[in-house]
Amino acid sequence: METYDNWVDGGFAPPPNGQRMATANPFTGEPWAEVADDPAAVDEAVRAARRAFTDGPWTTMAATERARLMRRLGELLSRDAELLGQTETRDNGKIIRETSAQAKGLQGYYDFFAGMADKIGGEQLPSPSPNFLVYTEREPIGVVGAIIPWNSPLVLLTWKLAPLLAAGCTVVVKPSDITPVTALMLAERTAEAGFPPGVINVVTGGPEVGAAVTSHPDIDKITFTGGGATAKHVARAAADNLTPTVLELGGKSPQIIFADADPAAVTNGLLAGIFAASGQTCIAGSRAYIHRDIFDEVIGRVAARANELVLGDPSDPATEMGPAASDAQRDRILAMIDQARTEGATIAAGGVVDPELGGRFVRPTVITGVTNQSTIVREEVFGPVLAVLDFEDEDEVVKLANDSDYGLAAGIWTNDIRRAHRVSRALRVGTVWINTYRNVSYMAPFGGFKQSGYGRDNGLEALDSFLQTKTIWIELTGATRDPFVIG
Ligand code: NAD
Repeated sequence: METYDNWVDGGFAPPPNGQRMATANPFTGEPWAEVADDPAAVDEAVRAARRAFTDGPWTTMAATERARLMRRLGELLSRDAELLGQTETRDNGKIIRETSAQAKGLQGYYDFFAGMADKIGGEQLPSPSPNFLVYTEREPIGVVGAIIPWNSPLVLLTWKLAPLLAAGCTVVVKPSDITPVTALMLAERTAEAGFPPGVINVVTGGPEVGAAVTSHPDIDKITFTGGGATAKHVARAAADNLTPTVLELGGKSPQIIFADADPAAVTNGLLAGIFAASGQTCIAGSRAYIHRDIFDEVIGRVAARANELVLGDPSDPATEMGPAASDAQRDRILAMIDQARTEGATIAAGGVVDPELGGRFVRPTVITGVTNQSTIVREEVFGPVLAVLDFEDEDEVVKLANDSDYGLAAGIWTNDIRRAHRVSRALRVGTVWINTYRNVSYMAPFGGFKQSGYGRDNGLEALDSFLQTKTIWIELTGATRDPFVIG
């Protein structure tokens, strides 16, 4: 067993009351590391972040120097990408192909937002009278609390960290209790990169630690990625302090396949959408609407590919799908498949635990014979389960796709460019992919409509969310004015 302390004020700090928890490897089921799980640590971390925001060298550092530290951090993460990918796989069971590609991709985010750090400026405003000069400044919002889920821990942390550092904020990070270690490894590298103490703090633990962050009165902004039920706790706690929040939540994203789409490309897109990361992604394309004319062909292809997918040790580069991240996750996936059966669905592929591997390996599952009211079509599974429906015309499928509590993303497959644009406009979702699926980038704002949350990670909007505007009025004439008349 390895043991990790929190990262507070530039170094490892044991939990004040000594409370700890274990984190397990989902492939072996064995606990492999012990981390802090002590809500009392949060206050220390917030105080360190506040000091760094108010008093430390971070506050007086030139933005270009801040950008240099960020680029250095990106380089160090690339240098250690292999180790970070392996640790992520050990902690959440995602296949090494994906975790190592994700770790190698982190640097781009730090580079992109470092490029923004020294270009943040206000503007001179037109004045209502020549007696005044009026302008704005864009200032960092302050100390940020960042709550992260387990499915892509380093990527989702970086989506928040890179823009908030570029903005000049400081942060207390609460990684998921299922995957706490890589955030600590990243924090260690911030010291090596030369970040001043207190700028980045990491406090591990479960919901109580998360709640201590979201209810802390000295945090200026909460940025949260996770499930909708947790998000409601977060928003309520934040409301008590009027702390603004960004909420990046789950989805039930539709993939819409028109009759003119290329069946081979569609099959790939459906597989990528739902079986990558064992379906444990917020953007999982978990509902497919396939035009009646090509329904049988596409379903045949998808079910065949699903049956061929290689499940196994996620640290083996040949493995295509790993286990569910926890027993609870596996049980939830199986319970939802059972419920679909009870509601009359047909299992076209999978639907069971892999007979050879057992444990947390749920076979890639394709379900037909459902309606838009079926539970499996309405609720997020967060597992490798694709629910498939057919449709006849465009208006009908737009209605079906929009008939969801969620609005995170959607895929459209067609070669008709007018239709692609029409449908993408009609969909109430935060991201639309046309003849592709699952692309994300530091350049492109990402976030949800409806129950998929509010606010955006990535792109200029993410930077903006960590800034606030100050308006400055300067009197230019020195004249004494009537104190009871403004202007
Ligand atoms: P979760 O909501 O269970 O946990 C998220 C984080 O919140 C964890 O760090 C957890 O410890 C913490 N937490 C739990 N209770 C808390 C409380 N009361 N107060 C404050 N923090 C608390 O989510 P998860 O199971 O880790 O992740 C899966 C969910 O995340 C799915 O719904 C998925 O769709 C969503 N997700 C969304 C995005 C996105 O960008 N939109 C990305 C990935 C995952």
